[in-house]
Amino acid sequence: MKKIKVTCLRCNGTGLECRRNEVCPTCEGKGYVNFSYIPFEKRKKLRGVKKVIVRGVNLAGGVIEKEISYEQFLKTKSFNLYNLK
Ligand SMILES: [Zn+2]
Repeated sequence: MKKIKVTCLRCNGTGLECRRNEVCPTCEGKGYVNFSYIPFEKRKKLRGVKKVIVRGVNLAGGVIEKEISYEQFLKTKSFNLYNLK
């Protein structure tokens, strides 16, 4: 887990709420808030999965479902759910 400081969106980094120049309650006047995140390295595997459902739309706009193996899912980097064949 990594932590960074990001600009407070409520006060736009000023520490004050513009309407009444009140101390921003979100960042307590600091102008930033702490943000925690986990950097993405690679897609994690789930144990025990055999089949994966791919749901999307075909060219005619109809909803279709395809069942693929978990191995095929892991080999595929990204699914275009708006243009399933
Ligand atoms: Zn703020």
